[in-house]
Amino acid sequence: MKARILAASKIHESALELAKEYAEVDVKTGLSEDELAKIMGDYDAIVVRSKPKVTKAMIDAGTKLKVIGRAGVGLDNVDKEAAAAKGVKVVNAPEASTISVAEHAIALMLSVYRDIPKARDSLKQGRWDRKLFMGCELYGKTLGLIGFGRIGKEVAKRARAFGMEVIVSDPAISSEDAKEYNAKCVEINEVFKTADIISIHVPALPTTKDLVNKERLAMMKPTAIIVNTSRGHAIDEDALYEALNEKKIKGAGLDVYKKEPLEGSPLPGLDNAVCVPHLGANTDEAQIMAGKIVIEKIREILTA
Ligand code: NAD
Repeated sequence: MKARILAASKIHESALELAKEYAEVDVKTGLSEDELAKIMGDYDAIVVRSKPKVTKAMIDAGTKLKVIGRAGVGLDNVDKEAAAAKGVKVVNAPEASTISVAEHAIALMLSVYRDIPKARDSLKQGRWDRKLFMGCELYGKTLGLIGFGRIGKEVAKRARAFGMEVIVSDPAISSEDAKEYNAKCVEINEVFKTADIISIHVPALPTTKDLVNKERLAMMKPTAIIVNTSRGHAIDEDALYEALNEKKIKGAGLDVYKKEPLEGSPLPGLDNAVCVPHLGANTDEAQIMAGKIVIEKIREILTA
């Protein structure tokens, strides 16, 4: 008998086609946690995006459940402890959005450097403010990457194509590793002191909490900007607000925040900050890739 997979979020059609090669697939989106718990007993696998939550009640009700697939990076919406307690495997696709996030980091750098959001708003209001928007080039600038894993490395490749110098700080990276990407390993405070653009690509760990803090912001050049497409966890947002508001640094491009959705934060209201609502992985390509990777990982478990 074919295995049964429940797609409880909108998963890309091409990924669902892959799943149909080895399983019966039901797409049931928009159900509440209670409604999902009632039908969980019918399925060998469930696949979700960032919603709905896969709760303990749902996992306990999943008498046949062998695997939970999260078509995306984080596992925040899956009760991993409840899954482990019942021997249910959990799979995700952290590699699916690497290119999308790297391109997004470069987009934020250019948006801040050339004031694109403000210039667009100005023209939309019927003005022709050419003198107001004097930008600078990426060419010849030093990019400091904090975190040189999957995404940091892809950002480095693109930055080199723009003619930037690249310095990196990552405890897991040797000078030899960095050299492969034409980058130089330096100590973290060196990045804050010397980089023109700092781009953060670290995971959320106790050691990366508020890694960008008041002291390090004070080390930055007044002309420097900071871009964060990793996790809000890595930045002390009050200290960043102060540095931006008092023009101690030139600007910031932010995709991620300590608390999401962002509510009542003064950051998006700043003239020198380009803030967007966690769009790093929001591309057709990343969504298709995430769906396909997770469906393949589920296949391996269900057909083992
Ligand atoms: P990765 O695991 O491949 O790389 C992370 C790197 O950070 C590792 O090389 C690690 O050694 C390094 N690191 C850890 N602690 C450090 C520290 N204190 N200082 C410097 N470096 C440190 O991860 P990745 O796939 O490159 O993802 C990076 C970040 O991007 C993660 O936080 C991830 O959640 C986030 N992300 C965001 C989006 C988005 O939509 N904006 C999408 C995907 C991933």
